Amino acid sequence: ATTAIAAETRDPSNLFYQSRTRRPIVARAEGIYFWDRDGRRYIDGSSGAMVANIGHGNPRVLAAMRQQMEETTFAYRLHFENEAAETLARRIAQRLPEGLDRVFFVSGGSEAVESCLKLARQHALATGQAGRYKVISRYPSYHGATLGALAVTGYTPMTAPFAPMMQEMPKIPAPTCYLDSDSLDWKARGLRYAEMLRAEIRRQGPETVLAFIMEPVGGASTGALVAPDSYYARIREICDEYGILLILDEVMSGVGRTGRFLAAEHWNLRPDIVALSKGFAAGYAPLGAMVADRRLVEPVLDAGGFIHGHTYAGNPLACAAGLAVLEEIESRDLMGNATRMGGLLKSGLAGLMARCPFIGDVRGLGLLLAFETVTDRQTMQPLPPALNAHSRLVEIAYEKGLIIYSRRTRGGLEGDHFMVCPPMIVDEAEIAEILRLLEESLVIFAA
Ligand code: PMP
Repeated sequence: ATTAIAAETRDPSNLFYQSRTRRPIVARAEGIYFWDRDGRRYIDGSSGAMVANIGHGNPRVLAAMRQQMEETTFAYRLHFENEAAETLARRIAQRLPEGLDRVFFVSGGSEAVESCLKLARQHALATGQAGRYKVISRYPSYHGATLGALAVTGYTPMTAPFAPMMQEMPKIPAPTCYLDSDSLDWKARGLRYAEMLRAEIRRQGPETVLAFIMEPVGGASTGALVAPDSYYARIREICDEYGILLILDEVMSGVGRTGRFLAAEHWNLRPDIVALSKGFAAGYAPLGAMVADRRLVEPVLDAGGFIHGHTYAGNPLACAAGLAVLEEIESRDLMGNATRMGGLLKSGLAGLMARCPFIGDVRGLGLLLAFETVTDRQTMQPLPPALNAHSRLVEIAYEKGLIIYSRRTRGGLEGDHFMVCPPMIVDEAEIAEILRLLEESLVIFAA
């Protein structure tokens, strides 16, 4: 009994996540700010984990959710359709290229990726291609926490413990062009990285390869790495040449954060299947979606149905939130704002880089931005792991009331990077405040 009481004194909470780290309890959130119970204010400089894309406490979304709650909060999809899901699916399809118009709702990013993988496989089975099951992905990458999404995730700290429980899928390097010291020009580098897909398809045997999955703009795994333009077109060509499906994981990059509805639109890249979540209901409700080409879905439904489903799929409350978020983005031109404010923030970060020798790179699109710390800009050597830059700088900024998101990547790309991704409603004054707090934090970090 004594030990039990002692343990309780040590850790009074019944909650746990990744570790015992505790944060203050949040009391209120509005716009791009949080307040804790002691009245301290924090700027949401990373929209949580690139989620709260239209900020907190949005009146339109809250009103839509309230109205939906008054009507129906839950109706199981096998018993009823619901208007919110129908409308949201139609509105999403209208924003996407012709034919990419079959929407399957889920409750988060991992579920969306799982759905993509399972649809691809069932399409192969329905069309006499049972030998195709391998999904090539990239490292570093992050596609989700569930075992299927982990199998295509290129981030060994999260995958290795589970290796015996899942079939690890083949992986190629994600373009990390800034690291290259060879003399190839930018376009040639993009092509060289894309050709790694062809080499891997040949190594695996094209008749066994089902799909290729990638984040068009790297998320937390690479710190907003964008490939040269040439990469994207060549990837599509290679997939077409071998009859391989292109799955885009736009869980983080999608729904406007890069200034376009899909990041893929920057390159006219057409996916066969795309995964959405995070900014989709922007933190107001758990919502994700797989959107697939109708030519993939129809044969699967004809062959007996899609063998997949989650209880909360098409949840009316989450879909009502998603619909209001989309209306808010469209009516206030928040994608335009993401482009404008992203440009401002990126040049501000470039300014910090000019004053701060250990910032080695600033990159990203729209408001999906990041910087990377290094010991040497020429070689892009990362800071020593013992410095724990990724967590130290985040803690310093947190103390100052600025929240940013960081990762130390291992597995192909070694280094600390920091996502600076405020909500798409951010204004010029708020950008200036974020940059000021970040610079103050960097000064303390450097000391
Ligand atoms: N894919 C990408 C690109 C992500 O960034 C994430 C979440 N960080 C996921 C998938 C998984 O989403 P969730 O955490 O909602 O399951």
